[in-house]
Amino acid sequence: MGKFTRRTLLVGGGALAGGLSTRYWMKENIPAGLGLPAAPQGAMLLDDASQLNPTPVQKHIVVKENADDAFIAMLRRELSEARTDRRPFVVHAARHSMGGQSLAKDATAVTLDQDFLEPDTANSICRVPAGVRWAQVIGHLDPIGFSPKVMQSNNDFGVASTFCVNAHGWPVPHSGFGSTVRSLRLMNAGGEVVTCSRTENRDLFNMTMGGYGLTGAIIDLEMEMVPNRRLKPEYIKLPGRELGTRFVKELADDPAIEMAYGRLDVTIDGFFEDGLLITYKPVEDQSDLPAASGSGFLSRTARHVFRAQPGSDRVKRGRWYLETEIGPAVGGGEVTRNSLINEPVVTLDDRDPTRTDILHEYFVAPERLADFITACQEVIPSSYQELLNITLRYVDTDRESWLNYASTPRIAAVMLFSQEMTVRGEADMARMTSALIERVIGMGGAYYLPYRLHATDRQFIRSYPRAGEFVAAKREIDPDLLFTNLMWDRYMARL
Ligand SMILES: Cc1cc2nc3c(=O)[nH]c(=O)nc-3n(C[C@H](O)[C@H](O)[C@H](O)COP(=O)(O)OP(=O)(O)OC[C@H]3O[C@@H](n4cnc5c(N)ncnc54)[C@H](O)[C@@H]3O)c2cc1C
Repeated sequence: MGKFTRRTLLVGGGALAGGLSTRYWMKENIPAGLGLPAAPQGAMLLDDASQLNPTPVQKHIVVKENADDAFIAMLRRELSEARTDRRPFVVHAARHSMGGQSLAKDATAVTLDQDFLEPDTANSICRVPAGVRWAQVIGHLDPIGFSPKVMQSNNDFGVASTFCVNAHGWPVPHSGFGSTVRSLRLMNAGGEVVTCSRTENRDLFNMTMGGYGLTGAIIDLEMEMVPNRRLKPEYIKLPGRELGTRFVKELADDPAIEMAYGRLDVTIDGFFEDGLLITYKPVEDQSDLPAASGSGFLSRTARHVFRAQPGSDRVKRGRWYLETEIGPAVGGGEVTRNSLINEPVVTLDDRDPTRTDILHEYFVAPERLADFITACQEVIPSSYQELLNITLRYVDTDRESWLNYASTPRIAAVMLFSQEMTVRGEADMARMTSALIERVIGMGGAYYLPYRLHATDRQFIRSYPRAGEFVAAKREIDPDLLFTNLMWDRYMARL
């Protein structure tokens, strides 16, 4: 393997590969009826953040090297071998997707975990290898005074993954991360390296944005960056139902707002009745910015409160008080843009072997948020699930990606549930998710694809009307179906 023997890890069969899979199999009460594959003797298993998708793979390669010629040669060789052996080929980073979007059965699986960044400060862009994580990106940009233009609100994820799900976050008033990517290089199913951008191979660029790795393996990307700045938060308490329209109004009235998000009260007594909108604007003094830390107060100090919420309305009430009253008073000071987004997922990790955290996300027009709240009030409290948190974001129109969740400006509602890892927990979650998706589609909205595969076939098509066109084009560029994953198997293989 030449240069790749030093740091590239080729994990052989007969062992559990990767921390996620190990953690999954340590859980003791996983019942056989969850529809999960039994752990085959000696099989190499990979899992994702749901801990519900242990998937046997034939070969697992972990890459630390930069996206150089040796990396491209290795990728081409492995792709060719997978084609000869008729096995799928899947490339991923942190595997925080939750429905097997980063996994394919009996595949060659390539985990990218690279740490390189080439900045071009004059043009406010940088080039990164596909597998660099946002924590590393921030680590490179912070000392030179820059910050990612759009990323998620946690820093664990891979940059190409972020493009492949077209993720969004707190930076406003932008659309998904894809809108900030200038170009990328992709290895297609034939092993050719093609450059994709808004002027070159545009359809492939737009299919790959939010295309869950089904068009090829991204090698590297060129993306926009913005100045890192010291920001000051403003806290607006308001009825939950008004949050969507107020969010949009605040952004329209004040273009200086750089980051914004909303929260809703999750106590059963006042479920989604009260809301909080937090906006961040640059302060005048931008000298001597401190190095990026984490976002601090609420996410670190209040972890135990956050995790004590299941089953206790009293704790949920206490947490809302902490967030709406104490937070603004104690933790509501100035913070840099980079510190705000430099937060690992592990900060809120459940550390509970009997439960798993499951995310949901829905996109509705701002003026429909009140209807969305009614739907949630009717569907969630009567389920068996524990909602720990809801965050609202603004996402501008996406006119590019084929699997597009924001055909108009949307409020994104991100919900974090704690799910019991039992048959009843899983069945109830599937029922509740599908009920919520139905209501959201009825409002002209969409659900987000990187989470559990609980939508029905029809719900998938109604949320993503270009799915049929996407699948037809994918079959043309990848006739042997090398690049697949469990989401392809579930919804697209039969289209
Ligand atoms: C705690 C938590 C918080 C989250 N917060 C947000 C948020 O704020 N906003 C938001 O929009 N989303 C959010 N998400 C969803 C998250 O953005 C996606 O799950 C994302 O995919 C995670 O990145 P990853 O590196 O783990 O991706 P992976 O799961 O590793 O991969 C995701 C997809 O990208 C493909 N892929 C990755 N790299 C390549 C490559 N080089 N070439 C081709 N295909 C590739 C994979 O095959 C897979 O289909 C959150 C998820 C979690 C668990």
